[in-house]
Amino acid sequence: MKPSILSIEKWRIAIVIFVMLIGSLLTDAWLISIALSLFGYIVWMYYKVYQFYTWIINGTSQNNVPDSDGIWDKINYKVLQDKNKSSDRKKRMNALLKRSQSILKGFPYAAIVLNQNNEVDWSNSKSSVLLNIVKNDRGQRINNLIRSPKLYKLLSANEDGSEIEIESPKDSSIQLVLKIIAIGVDSKLLIARDITQRNKTLEMRKSFISNASHELRTPLTVISGYLEMIKEDKNLPKSLSSPIDTSYEQTERMQNIIEDLLTLSRLESTDDIQDISTSINMEKVINHVCQDLNQAVTIEINTDEVIVGVETEIISLCTNLIQNAIFYTPKGTKIIVRWHADGSNKLCLDVQDFGKGIPNKHLAHLTERFYRADKGRSKEQGGTGLGLAIVSHIAQRHNAVLTIDSKVGSGSIFKVCFLVSN
Ligand code: ADP
Repeated sequence: MKPSILSIEKWRIAIVIFVMLIGSLLTDAWLISIALSLFGYIVWMYYKVYQFYTWIINGTSQNNVPDSDGIWDKINYKVLQDKNKSSDRKKRMNALLKRSQSILKGFPYAAIVLNQNNEVDWSNSKSSVLLNIVKNDRGQRINNLIRSPKLYKLLSANEDGSEIEIESPKDSSIQLVLKIIAIGVDSKLLIARDITQRNKTLEMRKSFISNASHELRTPLTVISGYLEMIKEDKNLPKSLSSPIDTSYEQTERMQNIIEDLLTLSRLESTDDIQDISTSINMEKVINHVCQDLNQAVTIEINTDEVIVGVETEIISLCTNLIQNAIFYTPKGTKIIVRWHADGSNKLCLDVQDFGKGIPNKHLAHLTERFYRADKGRSKEQGGTGLGLAIVSHIAQRHNAVLTIDSKVGSGSIFKVCFLVSN
């Protein structure tokens, strides 16, 4: 068992009391004797405090620990122990810092550590290649070194993991993606990755798909025309009627796929839609889309607010969602198309059906090209697997977000919410 502080000190207190008693017995002035004994004890204590203070001021060196016992020995020991612990921790932190810095040095990306004022604390060598930021720039605000409104927005938003794409300040032919990662409470890591090659490959892929679709369009139109002619021919032998019908259907499917691919290419090739945007009355658009359907849908218009965008694209978005609701639900299933305000800054289009719903595992993939949750039904309905990819693209271009909620057995809601500035 550890001796208590009192038991360590008890001998010293006993000596003081003993001196007091002896003094009182040997002299008549017992009060003075007690006072002198106490004074002696206080002076001794004061001396110990002074020794301790000097030791602390001089850096609590292990070699100069004040010579003491009892409670003072305990205090000195505790101070030394804490000091050793904190210097061990410091050593460990320094080693960790050195290790992290050497990892970041060999990083294939530019890595810059920023403090809470967005000033450069540290940067690796790749930062000078991609962002023109060198050692001498330490302490400078990153916004002054990289002049980009997008970066300014990214830093102000302070959202961990957010990304932007910018041109390199050193060489405008280099395209970079910049990402912010929070480190602790008051620092962040800015990472820049060269995506020039990736963008070139994407461009090549896009233009290949667009060119191939254009090239296939004309021959397919010719084939489809001839097949239609043969199909209508009264002298067509019965045995050929079914193969010709199937060939004609498949040609139509291919034509639909090519049209959808060309639509996607067009959407991808014009990023900025501001110049071609107009004010769109959604009630009109919904009524226009629904009038040509072979099934009745319930229309609920709860706001007369308009959105700004490209009307043909918004018509295509509505058509895709409403036709899917009809295609993927049994005939006669209730379908609601709703246009409403959601909170103060969102206008939403809901296309809700009460069909059999979509299993959860498919939901995140539905907007991928050629992804089909229900392959059989999609092919049977002549689906291209590109409808929701088109919807998602149009939504993005209009600063809108597509969300899909579905429950097996209850139906699905496809919601497109447009952000409106107040
Ligand atoms: P498709 O041309 O196959 O309809 P889409 O991209 O429009 O392609 O849709 C992708 C898949 O999402 C469809 O194949 C279908 O399985 C599923 N899907 C879309 N809308 C609905 C819906 N309202 N109900 C159930 N499944 C749906």
